Amino acid sequence: LSEKLQGTLAGVRQRGALTEDDINKAMREIRLALLEADVNFKVVKQFTSSVKERALGIEITKQLNPGQQVIKIVNEELTALMGGQSAGITFSPRPPTVILMAGLQGSGKTTATAKLAKLLSEQNGSSVAVAACDVYRPAAVDQLIKVGAQAGATVYERGTDADPVDIAGWALDQAKRDGKDVLIVDTSGRLHVDQALMAELANIKKRVRPHVVLLVVDAMTGQDAVNVAEQFAEVAQFDGVILSKLDGDARGGAALSVKAVTGKPILFASTGEKLGDFEKFHPDRMAQRILGMGDVLSFIEKAEQQVDQDEAKELERKLRKNQFTLEDFLDQLKKIRKMGPLTSLLGMIPGLAGHQLSKMNVDEKELDRVEAMILSMTPYERRHPELIKGSRRLRIAKGSGTTVQQVNQLVKQFDQMRKVMRGIQQGKMPDLGQIMRG
Ligand code: GDP
Ligand code: MG
Repeated sequence: LSEKLQGTLAGVRQRGALTEDDINKAMREIRLALLEADVNFKVVKQFTSSVKERALGIEITKQLNPGQQVIKIVNEELTALMGGQSAGITFSPRPPTVILMAGLQGSGKTTATAKLAKLLSEQNGSSVAVAACDVYRPAAVDQLIKVGAQAGATVYERGTDADPVDIAGWALDQAKRDGKDVLIVDTSGRLHVDQALMAELANIKKRVRPHVVLLVVDAMTGQDAVNVAEQFAEVAQFDGVILSKLDGDARGGAALSVKAVTGKPILFASTGEKLGDFEKFHPDRMAQRILGMGDVLSFIEKAEQQVDQDEAKELERKLRKNQFTLEDFLDQLKKIRKMGPLTSLLGMIPGLAGHQLSKMNVDEKELDRVEAMILSMTPYERRHPELIKGSRRLRIAKGSGTTVQQVNQLVKQFDQMRKVMRGIQQGKMPDLGQIMRG
């Protein structure tokens, strides 16, 4: 989707002025791109017509050319489509806050239960317990015991013989007794939305009176995820959606339609197999990611978990002033590599989203090489990469066991990255066309 939109919009922006014909053409391409990305057709229709309406009323300003303005509008409309502001969980004034997880089998409920437990205990300092109410799926209880413990949550379980509604009620009593801030109730799923599932959910709800009901839908199933959400919305109340497996291929489609179709916001995104691959859903960032600008803010936020606050501020300042050096880059690279596999982070780097590179399996050896090259530079060179030419290049290549071309490439890529990052720091739209031409 992002590549398609980029292509379309790059075409628009290269032309100087924007005619109605241009707009129609762009809208047709956007419509096709969205449909191909498995976005609900009603949503697509609504979306393109509101973009068109705004695009027609464009006033030419000095700062942005018409093409850039269309991008801006598409960005804003995408954000609005996904709910605008990012929303969170409302905690009950009288703990424990009970969160009920619902969704089809395999949608990622149990995983999300543990991930949410971890997020709430780490970010809010809450003491969290989880309740194992899926007594049907073989090993479901064991799975929650395992991931719940990894998340640092207390796991309330009574095996697979007890009744799910009873377990839920009992777990709530335990949570009160143990003074827990949050209780997350993991439930069983079904292959389809059916009567039995709804009845059980309704009974659990009646018993524990959840403050928040979260529906987990699998982003990889694209349009199906939206259909499931729609069906749930028809028969049961829920407050928000967790979009799981957003690390898969279907990045945009489901995310774009869920809010529009159900009226409920996506609250969290689950983006990988690991417990840490879970974050608050930000419509604006998702819109940017879809547009291929790279999810800079998420990236910086992730980095911040590793880097301390002062350092992050300093980093921001440097980016702003274009004083970000290869030395800082090396420092960041080392920290980032501690965060885990780079594949999940690559898609967030500005200019890389949608790019070949972000789909590539990151070769850790390649990163070793990058580190070696920077380490082979003098501190002065790291601060002034533009000086790295001729004999310096050769020396660095020799010192790091790489080739002159590889050193060249690193310097070039770094320079490009710095430009894009600085543009975004200043709130400028990156020149998509230029990024694409790379
Ligand atoms: P449940 O049946 O709804 O409880 O689903 P599970 O939590 O057991 O998840 C089903 C499968 O999807 C498991 O293999 C999980 O590891 C996997 N899974 C869940 N969330 C994610 C995610 O965000 N990304 C990826 N790649 N896999 C996930
Ligand atoms: Mg489960």
